[in-house]
Amino acid sequence: TKWVHAFGGGSSEGDADMRDLLGGKGANLAEMAKLGLPVPPGFTITTEVCVAYYANNKTWPSDLEAQIEAALGALEATTDKKFGDPANPLLVSVRSGARASMPGMMDTVLNLGLNDETAAGLAELAGDKRFAYDSYRRFIQMYSDVVLGLDHSIFEEILETFKEERDYMLDTELSADDWVEIVGEYKRAAAEALGRDFPSDPREQLQGAIRAVFDSWMTARAIKYRQLHDIPESWGTAVNVQAMVFGNMGETSATGVAFTRNPSTGENSYYGEFLINAQGEDVVAGIRTPQCLTQSMREEMGDTQPSMQEALPDSYDELARVFDILERHYRDMQDIEFTVERGRLWMLQTRNGKRTAKAALKIAVDLASEGLITEEEAVMRVDPSQLDQLLHPMIAEDARRDVLATGLPASPGAAAGVVVFDSDDAEARAAKGDPVILVRIETSPEDIHGMHAAEGIVTARGGMTSHAAVVARGMGRPCVSGAGSIRIDYATKQFTAGGRTVKEGDFVTIDGATGEVLSGEVKMIQPEVTGDFARLMEWADKVRRMKVRTNAETPADVKTARDFGAEGIGLCRTEHMFFDADRIAAVREMILSDAKEGRVAALAKILPMQRSDFEAIFEIMEDRPCTIRLLDPPLHEFLPHTEEDVHAVAEATGLSAAALMERAGALAESNPMLGHRGCRLGISFPEIYEMQARAIFEAQVNVEKKTGIKPVAEVMIPLVAMPKELAILKAAVAKVAAEVEAESGKAPEYLIGTMIELPRAALRADEIAEEAEFFSFGTNDLTQTTFGLSRDDAGKFMPDYIEQGIFEKDPFVTLDQSGVGDLVRIAAERGRGTRNGLKLGICGEHGGDPASIHFCDSVGLDYVSCSPYRVPVARLAAAQAAL
Ligand code: PEP
Ligand code: MG
Repeated sequence: TKWVHAFGGGSSEGDADMRDLLGGKGANLAEMAKLGLPVPPGFTITTEVCVAYYANNKTWPSDLEAQIEAALGALEATTDKKFGDPANPLLVSVRSGARASMPGMMDTVLNLGLNDETAAGLAELAGDKRFAYDSYRRFIQMYSDVVLGLDHSIFEEILETFKEERDYMLDTELSADDWVEIVGEYKRAAAEALGRDFPSDPREQLQGAIRAVFDSWMTARAIKYRQLHDIPESWGTAVNVQAMVFGNMGETSATGVAFTRNPSTGENSYYGEFLINAQGEDVVAGIRTPQCLTQSMREEMGDTQPSMQEALPDSYDELARVFDILERHYRDMQDIEFTVERGRLWMLQTRNGKRTAKAALKIAVDLASEGLITEEEAVMRVDPSQLDQLLHPMIAEDARRDVLATGLPASPGAAAGVVVFDSDDAEARAAKGDPVILVRIETSPEDIHGMHAAEGIVTARGGMTSHAAVVARGMGRPCVSGAGSIRIDYATKQFTAGGRTVKEGDFVTIDGATGEVLSGEVKMIQPEVTGDFARLMEWADKVRRMKVRTNAETPADVKTARDFGAEGIGLCRTEHMFFDADRIAAVREMILSDAKEGRVAALAKILPMQRSDFEAIFEIMEDRPCTIRLLDPPLHEFLPHTEEDVHAVAEATGLSAAALMERAGALAESNPMLGHRGCRLGISFPEIYEMQARAIFEAQVNVEKKTGIKPVAEVMIPLVAMPKELAILKAAVAKVAAEVEAESGKAPEYLIGTMIELPRAALRADEIAEEAEFFSFGTNDLTQTTFGLSRDDAGKFMPDYIEQGIFEKDPFVTLDQSGVGDLVRIAAERGRGTRNGLKLGICGEHGGDPASIHFCDSVGLDYVSCSPYRVPVARLAAAQAAL
């Protein structure tokens, strides 16, 4: 097997299509080398080696070392240097690189191959001793941290003490001889901590680094990251070994990271940061404040340091040329790492850049407008789940802003919550239901879980490409980074800013679009679908086959859903309307009467209220279909539960508290979700469904008379298992429709159908379809009843099931396509077998989940229905499913 693939020096054994084998970084390095771009030569050890390493008790294939030797030999030939040769040393970087980028993993070891002899040789060769020993001390520090597992604070302390003793402020003040001294101390400290000498043999160093990359695949951090991002463990990571180029060779050398477009706004201008006379890690680490790539960026940020455009104009022009080549080649925004060594540009990485939802929309729409991609490709470019970010409240323009501190606008959106200072605390408080804002001096991969649990993140240190900023943008969390005026005291759990103190548990609001941290909870506004968002939605609507409806019952929600493009109502849960203050008394009166006359009298009071609710809905939805479900939950849900409530209700109904308790006791069930609910109520108390049917039909007639528009109702009977249930109730509803027509002279337009939410109904869908004019899959109950898994109690043990891999995803969130999905497929086929073209939809929570929406498309459903805020997500997911 070929385990090692070379790139650079005029040829490449790999390319961008070999990402599975070479990892993202390796595949793109090979591709760039193929394009003739300046890539330092090197080789990639494949992901298959990592897989074999774990399959064989952490040993790699026996012929791997020979292949590495051969690749090293070739690399020596291309670079005209020799690994471990003091006279002309080849130095390499070693980096991990999985198929999907994984910031939680081992990143990089630079300057590998240095020891006392090669460092002296490098000093000689470069004519720069300071550079050589600066590189050497970096290597010892990085290798010790990343490969040997030593705590980096050992080295930081040595350096700090050294500087203090000599009154140095900056690292740049250290002379060549200072670094030589530091190197000696570093090596002593490492040897002491290790109990053996720091490895000086370059080949031993290289093997150690390769092993460390493979081992980093299974660290707790990496595992957590994979879980959060659905990355299979079986993929493994590749290792990239590449000839070093040096950004720390003086004032004409530099290193930087850049995006070909703004990853926060999507604006079509270069965006990035760089540092002169530095190595890669310095930019991200936040030790020195990076400089802006472009002049316009510098002006916008009011930065005092020169931009790269000013400081290294020739390298900048070359970089800009490469940006354009890469964007046109990859036809997407690129995230790039580069180094300038004595005025010569080298590309270290390119990949499709992570971006906010706002940027994703703008970039997709712009690329299509520029003709680089088609409208359909643009539709495929935006992750539907990411749209969620734009569908959340933002700070109202007229809100009072009490600014505590200002940092960088690192990730847009607004969030409010209580301040916590620790990622474990963030997770714990969020689990209790508190919205939290995580406030840290800076974040590291150890904070991933806390950032995920938080509504928003604030850091006191770090730039726009700091860990916090990059991860927050990826997760869609609003983030303010580098809020320098914030002084955090972890010990007392508080921070001060501008003379004010904020304690753990205090409320703050952050605005990730302006970088402001505001005191208290600030007024927010609802988002709108306009501009690029609206444009992309139009393109999505052109290609999607399924319709998108909403689950809503209040006029406000129905209106929101309409504004987001809902094409009807897929589920109006009428019971939600029973709880309103003006009617709950009548509802209870109805439930508490043990004779039909009492119920009929109470229902007569509810009728006009239900009718006006339906009128409001029909007026908003006009002639779009509205599925209205008749009463579903068990009746005891409407009865008072606290003693106080019992007394109030007793007083209002004239019943004694004792009688009330007795009636409530009689209605209590041991298994209410499988009890007297759904159509079973309609069978026992037909007058309830008759009242609701009347309210629907009268509302239709009234709205038609008022507006001239004919509403369309789909009357839905819940929890049907037997065809006969539906037959009886359908006849009752149809009779009411005929009465309303006779009374009003107008025929309401309606269908009568059922939910499919019990396995029996799904299996006997052919018989049910004899009666039903439509099916709507109630996948919440269908999941509950298929698994025998209580939707109200599963939360308690679901985490165990996810952790142990029994469920890959919570089946109440993402449809279990193989089990529950089989029932859906069977019901769709059998239903349509009886009634050609039977209308099919889904109204369980899964109707707003992109993966489940793909499934719905594949089984031929006519529409999905979801909560109002998910309507745009569903429109896009439905379009992607159709493409
Ligand atoms: C369902 O069961 O999927 C459904 C939509 O109904 P409810 O959630 O109201 O039980
Ligand atoms: Mg249900």
